[in-house]
Amino acid sequence: MKQGTSVVIIGGGPAGLSAALTLAEEKVPVSVLEADPIYLGGIARTVRHGEYLTDIGGHRFFSKSREIEDFWSRVLGDDLLERPRSSRILFRGKLFSYPLRAIEVLRKIGYGESLLCIASYIKSHFLPVKPAKTFEDWVVNRFGKRLFQLFFKTYTEKVWGISCDRISADWAAQRINSLSLGVAILNALSPWRNGSKKVKTLLESFRYPRKGPGMMWEVCAEKIVKAGGTVALDSPVDQLTWDSPTSQWTVEGTNTDGVKFKHRASHVISTMPLSALITALRPPASELALAAARSLRYRDFITISVIVEDGGKGAGDGIFQENWLYIHDPSVKVGRIQNYKSWSPEMVPAPTSGQSPRTFLGVEYFCFKGDGLWQSSDQELIALAKKELLTTGILKKPEQFIEGFVNRQEKAYPVYDECYQDHVRTIRDEIASRYPGLHVSGRNGMHKYNNQDHAMMTGILAAKNIIAGENLWDVWRVNQDAEYLEHRSQTGGLIDPPVKT
Ligand SMILES: Cc1cc2nc3c(=O)[nH]c(=O)nc-3n(C[C@H](O)[C@H](O)[C@H](O)COP(=O)(O)OP(=O)(O)OC[C@H]3O[C@@H](n4cnc5c(N)ncnc54)[C@H](O)[C@@H]3O)c2cc1C
Repeated sequence: MKQGTSVVIIGGGPAGLSAALTLAEEKVPVSVLEADPIYLGGIARTVRHGEYLTDIGGHRFFSKSREIEDFWSRVLGDDLLERPRSSRILFRGKLFSYPLRAIEVLRKIGYGESLLCIASYIKSHFLPVKPAKTFEDWVVNRFGKRLFQLFFKTYTEKVWGISCDRISADWAAQRINSLSLGVAILNALSPWRNGSKKVKTLLESFRYPRKGPGMMWEVCAEKIVKAGGTVALDSPVDQLTWDSPTSQWTVEGTNTDGVKFKHRASHVISTMPLSALITALRPPASELALAAARSLRYRDFITISVIVEDGGKGAGDGIFQENWLYIHDPSVKVGRIQNYKSWSPEMVPAPTSGQSPRTFLGVEYFCFKGDGLWQSSDQELIALAKKELLTTGILKKPEQFIEGFVNRQEKAYPVYDECYQDHVRTIRDEIASRYPGLHVSGRNGMHKYNNQDHAMMTGILAAKNIIAGENLWDVWRVNQDAEYLEHRSQTGGLIDPPVKT
């Protein structure tokens, strides 16, 4: 490591905190600046509503990297629970097992529809769309038009808010796990596929902190501080200035009380959204890079966390026992519903004496900041969640609904539209050529559809590059294939393969 090395990390999410722990343990002076005044963990935080705990999205801890799995074990030890994975699909008012079972599918979608799906699959197999540019082309080629229209179109458009013919085929290829429904249906409908094309096994379990994902990141921050680093909440960074003569960065911002802060360091690891980073740089980025940054788009996310009377024996069993349900039904806006009690019993307090058993649901909506859903008041959103829980039959009667809370998550998903790769490339080149000592990591930090483990790996590798004093690892090559989250994989780490840059 070069003498005088010090690091400021922007963002106290999984990427930033993993990088910080790696640096602090090597005795590198490191400060983490987190914008949120209350929570660490970023999208993987746990939000407290009294004793009820919300996970923004439901975070499974699973990685095919031994390094990442060991990192989690080292931070939380026995506080990481092993949880069974279970989910179902609500479609046309019926619940389907996930993965689908042949007899159940045939019974629920009907033999006629099943045959049409197979015929359409065969047609696409022999007459594929060439070249497959969009998500729609990719799915139709792989699964047939009929299955695409039945199972993929509505849910995917709910998630992304754009028509499937405007989503890049890349995204489909990377997020194959979202397509497992089609694999499962085809598998269910055409048993002969099991012979030559073996369908991979679904993950049956994952790990989960007993008090939600934020517990991982709060304990990680304690370890950073113990190792000599600092972690500051309420520190939104709005300017980063590179001073060439001193080879130092100055990182500045203003907290919610209007107090200004300023940190100096030889290196910065940024996990703030790439689009915001570019506008915060001094000397200013080129007009080309600024325009690229303005063109990056995001999908936002609202969770309405709802305390309900469970109506069963108390384990969430009166509602549903799965971790979550996918809501493919086009008649409602909700995309998924979590049952936090099924993730960990400690997400819900024990009932007080005389109180009927309760559970805590996360009613999830995908939206764009500024659209009708996002602009709705909390009361309107809570009323919508209540209505849709009743419409979908998850609540049997309105009296089961006790109280709701709204959590808005901006920039939950970096959007992969037709041009995002060009924009990211422009920004990458600008950073590499004009801003020494600036490293980008994480999900929005790289505008990559990274889960926690990939986000963490990019942070850890950025830290290792700083420790090494040269860029030994190309963080952009941490692969973003999210397939492993649904399927057990026998191969590989997270980077393919590590290269000297
Ligand atoms: C609905 C949903 C479900 C998911 N499920 C899973 C799952 O099951 N398993 C899994 O592994 N992953 C899952 N993920 C992905 C996971 O949440 C992300 O991979 C992870 O949180 C990314 O970490 P990060 O540190 O890169 O970014 P973030 O979590 O976004 O953290 C970035 C941090 O930077 C802070 N920040 C931003 N701007 C500034 C600024 N200007 N100054 C200071 N701080 C700033 C933010 O407040 C935030 O805390 C899910 C994501 C979503 C949206």
